[in-house]
Amino acid sequence: MLLQEDIPLAPLTTFRIGGAARFLVEAASSADVEEAVAFAHSRNLPLFVLGGGSNLVVADAGWPGLVLKVAIFGIEKHSGLEDGKSLFEAGAGESWDEFVARAVGSDCAGVECLSGIPGSVGGTPVQNVGAYGQEVGDTVQSVEVFDLKDGQVRELCGEACGFAYRSSVFNTTERGRFIILRVVYALTPGGRPHTEYADLKRHFEESGSSPTLAATRAAVRQIRSRKGMLIIEGDPDCRSAGSFFKNPVVSEQQHGELLRRATAKALTLPSYPALEKAHKVSAAWLVEHSGFTRGYRLGSVGISSKHALAIVNLGGATAAEVLALKNQIQQRVEQTWGIRLDPEPVFVGYGPGA
Ligand SMILES: Cc1cc2nc3c(=O)[nH]c(=O)nc-3n(C[C@H](O)[C@H](O)[C@H](O)COP(=O)(O)OP(=O)(O)OC[C@H]3O[C@@H](n4cnc5c(N)ncnc54)[C@H](O)[C@@H]3O)c2cc1C
Repeated sequence: MLLQEDIPLAPLTTFRIGGAARFLVEAASSADVEEAVAFAHSRNLPLFVLGGGSNLVVADAGWPGLVLKVAIFGIEKHSGLEDGKSLFEAGAGESWDEFVARAVGSDCAGVECLSGIPGSVGGTPVQNVGAYGQEVGDTVQSVEVFDLKDGQVRELCGEACGFAYRSSVFNTTERGRFIILRVVYALTPGGRPHTEYADLKRHFEESGSSPTLAATRAAVRQIRSRKGMLIIEGDPDCRSAGSFFKNPVVSEQQHGELLRRATAKALTLPSYPALEKAHKVSAAWLVEHSGFTRGYRLGSVGISSKHALAIVNLGGATAAEVLALKNQIQQRVEQTWGIRLDPEPVFVGYGPGA
């Protein structure tokens, strides 16, 4: 186990923001994980588990304890089928998008719409990543974890992960308890791609091409790059943590109030069947109709010129500036629409309630 001291965390995140970790270790096996955890316990250090750093706002003061970067690799397709599905086992440190490429290349359906999401395999169950009508929880068969409660390695079945919109036990009830080591995904061999989402439907209608799994993966990546949601070296619009706010889930009463406020402003709420089915409202629309435009700037941070929901680092930004813009957006949306937006990224090095 190679232990490093005083390691800047900004380069390990897609936001490129934040201070240093007092200690950092890369764990290439469950034995490394166990050793790193023992080291943190012996020194009474707080532990933070790092994946690909694509959903983080790291405080300017950094992390006062041990950052454990999971670097367990390997993707293996199990032989044979289980209930008609092909099982793929992937190390938590693998790049998620490379895993999707492998699944699509093996003609297996279930994750093609999740192409281009940055970060690691181990990060995907944490907030049940989703995009273009698919969520990873729909294909997670099991997750191998190191349980910090008793130091045991165990397997959680998909159901035990408690997947819901951008949540799971890993970021709610059991937050901080499990270190994800490996994930097994159950995919459908020869399955049809999922192309129900409006952007994807339009893409295939306009191009006249047939939606194979590979074509769907390519289309998703193309659509994402237009929105600054694909990491492209040198594109300042992707120095971000992706969508900064979740789409709020509203009650009937809140929805009625929203409609009333929109009508008073002679605005029409956008209609997205996928969102409406889940009683969600577009957070991007709320932001754009609360006085913010794409390209809005506050110091060295701003709103992406390609997507109203992404806060971007315009160069040399601090985490304090990100928080200032986050607070400004939350306040104006609440004043204008009566709805509080919840941030999506994880705040590292802040106390509870950042
Ligand atoms: C440009 C861009 C586009 C994005 N688009 C989407 C999108 O379409 N849909 C979506 O859902 N998300 C999206 N995201 C957010 C992000 O990519 C995902 O949440 C991703 O799964 C985070 O994985 P990560 O490995 O980078 O985790 P990190 O950012 O490193 O960590 C995130 C959280 O997961 C925990 N964690 C990470 N690895 C492990 C592990 N092995 N064991 C236990 N806990 C772990 C961390 O402790 C932390 O709490 C986007 C981000 C960016 C920058």
